[in-house]
Amino acid sequence: MTLDVAWAIDWVRRAATAVVEHREELVELDRQIGDGDHGENLTRGFTAVVAKLDALAEPPALVGDVLRLVATTLMSTVGGASGPLYGTAFLRAAKVTGLPALGPDGVVALLEAGLEGIVARGKAVPGEKTMVDAWAPAVAAAVQAAEEGAPASEVLGSAARAAHAGALATIPLVATKGRASYLGERSAGHLDPGARSSDLLLAAAALAAGA
Ligand code: ADP
Ligand code: MG
Ligand code: MG
Repeated sequence: MTLDVAWAIDWVRRAATAVVEHREELVELDRQIGDGDHGENLTRGFTAVVAKLDALAEPPALVGDVLRLVATTLMSTVGGASGPLYGTAFLRAAKVTGLPALGPDGVVALLEAGLEGIVARGKAVPGEKTMVDAWAPAVAAAVQAAEEGAPASEVLGSAARAAHAGALATIPLVATKGRASYLGERSAGHLDPGARSSDLLLAAAALAAGA
């Protein structure tokens, strides 16, 4: 399966569907350790993204064009902490994917750039109970799969599985960034909403790639 513009569009559409399907779950997770709006924030953002895709006269030429549309739309519609974080992730990812299609190294570059964007914006390191705890293991798994010679779709599949495990691993952590950090020790025992939504976004990318 070629990770081309059609894949990127399919990824974004699947991501939007996943966000809508998991809206209540994300709201509930954010209610436990935040302000309960994460599901609403992302539903608003990805609904706007799909509307913009639907309005395009013709598909963009490059994968990065699709990711830039996602970035600018999320930045202007999501709000909260996650809007600028995901916006910056997709913007950085767009900058390294100005290509008609991605090979294994292109997938690694996309994920690395996304993580760099989140870290540049939010200054979190792994273990602080944020979306970084899904993205960092995803990048590590992608690098390893690419080094082992896996095709692009499998690099993405490995990343998505690692993101899922990384998200679940936030449960026992104490938050030291974002709203959840206001709870201190009481944030332990809950899945981080942003790590969960990152898991969903990367799972959608892998599904669109057939992985
Ligand atoms: P808000 O907290 O402003 O209501 P959201 O609920 O949409 O925003 O997003 C909350 C999520 O954002 C958290 O679950 C966490 O994963 C992520 N987050 C918050 N602050 C940071 C940060 N500094 N770095 C990385 N991720 C963060
Ligand atoms: Mg919130
Ligand atoms: Mg909020």
